[in-house]
This record gives sequence, C-alpha cells and structure tokens, in this order.
Amino acid sequence: MNSKEVAIIGGGVAGISAAVALTDIGFMVHIIERDVQLGGHATSFACKATDKCSKCLVCVADELVLKASQHPKIRVLTGSEVMSFSGKPGDFELRISQAGGEESLFKESVLKIGAIVIATGFMPFNAEEKKEYGYGKYKNVITASDFERAIRANGAISRPTDGSAPEKITFFQCVGSRDESIGKGYCSKVCCSYALKLSKLVKSEIPESDITIFYMDVQPTGKDFLKLRESCEEMGIKFVRNLPSKIYGYADSDFMRVNNLNNNTGEVVQDEFDLIVLSVGMSPQNDVKFLANTFKVDLDEHNFFKGLKQSTNLSNTPGIFLAGACQGPKDIEESMAHGRAAAAEVVKMLREQ
Ligand SMILES: Cc1cc2nc3c(=O)[nH]c(=O)nc-3n(C[C@H](O)[C@H](O)[C@H](O)COP(=O)(O)OP(=O)(O)OC[C@H]3O[C@@H](n4cnc5c(N)ncnc54)[C@H](O)[C@@H]3O)c2cc1C
Ligand code: SF4
Ligand code: SF4
Repeated sequence: MNSKEVAIIGGGVAGISAAVALTDIGFMVHIIERDVQLGGHATSFACKATDKCSKCLVCVADELVLKASQHPKIRVLTGSEVMSFSGKPGDFELRISQAGGEESLFKESVLKIGAIVIATGFMPFNAEEKKEYGYGKYKNVITASDFERAIRANGAISRPTDGSAPEKITFFQCVGSRDESIGKGYCSKVCCSYALKLSKLVKSEIPESDITIFYMDVQPTGKDFLKLRESCEEMGIKFVRNLPSKIYGYADSDFMRVNNLNNNTGEVVQDEFDLIVLSVGMSPQNDVKFLANTFKVDLDEHNFFKGLKQSTNLSNTPGIFLAGACQGPKDIEESMAHGRAAAAEVVKMLREQ
C-alpha cells in the first residue's frame, strides 16, 4: 500500500491545482504530462488586459506552472503517457511510458500510488469541420486559439496575410458548440467571455478598428458578464444576433465577405472583414476512449468523462477521480476549483481505506 502518493494524468491548471492541494497536506504527487511542458491550454493564451486587468486568469496559470515545477513534492514527468493500470483503491500500479533518454526513445516505468486523478482537459474544436467557414483555406480566417497564441507570441495584433493591423474584424460565436448538425449540442461556456475580452483588447490596441460579434445569444457566464458586454458596447463593438452561414473569399483581396440577415428588416446584408476569428468551443480530448477503457470510466453523451451525481470529481471506478475540463467545459477558475475539489475527494477516500 502506497496511499501517500497520487498520480495525476494531465498537467493543465486542473491537474496542477489538484497536485498543489495534495502536497499541502503532505502527499507526494506524480504528474504524467504527455506534452513537453506543464500548463495545458491556458499557458498558450494572451493576457487580455486593456487599461484594466480583464480577469482572464492566464497569468495565474503561468504562476501555477512555476510553482509546480519548483515544488519538492511534485514530480513532473513530461513526455509521458499511461500504458496500463492494475490494483485497488489505495494500492494501484500504473505503467507509464516516457519519451527521452539516450539509449531508447521510450522508457517504461511503474508508479505505485493510492489514487489517480484524470485531468486531461479538452481539445479546441477543429474548425476545419465547419467547411463553410473556410478555415485552412482563407488565411485571414483564424480560430480564437490561433489568435490567443499569436498575440502571446508577437505581443501585437496582425492579420496573417501580410502582418498589418486588421481594419474590420469579426468574431463568430458558438463555432463547434450548440450545433446539433455536428453532434455538439452543448454550450462550451468559455467562448463568450474570452471573445468579448479579446475584442476589447483589439479595440484598445487598434482604436480605429471596426469590430462586430456575430452570436446566437451571448451566454451570461460569470457575475461580471453583463458589465463586460456593456463595456464592449461603450467602446463601439457591435453585436449582431445572427450567425452567417458561410464565408466567401476573393481571389485578389485580403478581405472576405459574409452575408447576414438583418433581423429587423428581414433583408440580407453583405459585409466585408479582413480578420475573422472563430470562437471555437471545447471538444473532448482525442484519446478519451483509450483512457476510459483503461480505467473503465464512463463517458457522457458528448464524450467528456462522466462524474457521479454526488460529486463530479468521482468517476464510476473507485479510486479514479476527475478534474477540470476533461469532465466538461470549464474556465480556468472553475478548472482550478475542480482540481482542488478532486484533491479533497482523494484525501477522503484514502482516509477511509
Ligand atoms: C480559445 C480558448 C480561449 C480560452 N481563454 C480562456 C481565458 O481567457 N480564461 C479562462 O478562464 N479560460 C479560457 N479558456 C478555457 C481554458 O482553456 C480551460 O479552462 C483550461 O485550459 C482547462 O484546464 P484543464 O487543466 O482542465 O485542461 P487543459 O488546459 O486541456 O490541460 C490538460 C493537460 O493534460 C495533458 N494531457 C491530455 N491528455 C493526456 C494524456 N493522455 N496523458 C498525459 N497528459 C495528457 C495536456 O497535454 C494538457 O497539458 C479558453 C479556451 C479556449 C478554447
Ligand atoms: S493575464 Fe488576464 S488576469 Fe492576468 S493581468 Fe492579464 S488580463 Fe489580468
Ligand atoms: S459560451 Fe457563448 S460562444 Fe461559447 S458555446 Fe456558449 S453561447 Fe456559444
């Protein structure tokens, strides 16, 4: 029995928050992260501060990563993946493979732990699935993930075709969410908030820019949301309650055309933009089925890990816990809180052993 050690699969904000909470009460934690570094999606995003902090929490994620990488009781195994597992709650064996080493490309090892937390997060929706938006075909159609990464890397907002400041920008909401035609009927919960914060950032960096947000209905997530929308409108950002069905490119221009229905007159209005940002939603991680089979953990109808009614941190397999966006869409704050709650469930279970 090795119940003072816990394995966490996935080193995003949820996994790290669970790890830090467990070490605070004396546990040793192994984080199995398949990427080359900790942090997950949140550490690829941009600070969305204008003259004020937008409370996007991206910097909090950066701080968490630093804390975990220096923590004496957190062992970070990057380039690692789970191969198999056996045992019972309080006494599991987890076989993992880790990339690296000079003699072999992959090294196998066995961890003896008391509990396992799955914190493998999500994948941004693959916008190529919405062919009518031309992602991958028109260079100035980008996803919000691309936009976040580019702003973080370059510190400036530019259009991909020539690096110049975009003049007419639009955000398309609910791309890959609330769309039964592609089997994703759920709301991703985070994209209204991040899109509005990004649009404010663009407006404050490029005051002469003309920004439109096309939406079905803006999801009021979080207590500050209505204030956020009002502040967008005060800056001159336009909201149009209608999602254009298609993006048309031109052979000789960086601009693209969209048609949209004017809800008041019923007329179809044409508009042109030189940067279109697709507010992609949160899809399940690509290997959820492998992990679900390995740990005999149920998935919900959208292929996120299914929590039990009494706590969404509990899976149907005793000793296997869930944390963060792998259990369903969550923002950074919620993912961190879910990670800490998973740690509390682990401790409760191990104390009962
Ligand atoms: C475009 C976009 C912008 C966003 N902007 C914001 C924002 O500004 N503010 C905000 O609060 N939220 C934002 N979010 C939401 C935010 O990304 C999530 O809340 C957060 O990343 C969830 O953290 P997580 O740890 O659950 O998952 P993730 O960030 O997905 O981390 C999961 C980790 O697990 C690892 N992993 C996956 N599978 C395995 C495996 N099999 N084995 C080992 N490791 C594995 C991954 O490599 C990753 O490091 C945004 C989301 C999107 C799509
Ligand atoms: S990263 Fe987000 S929370 Fe941090 S300072 Fe910037 S706007 Fe504020
Ligand atoms: S959060 Fe907003 S953009 Fe995202 S799916 Fe929900 S309603 Fe659509």
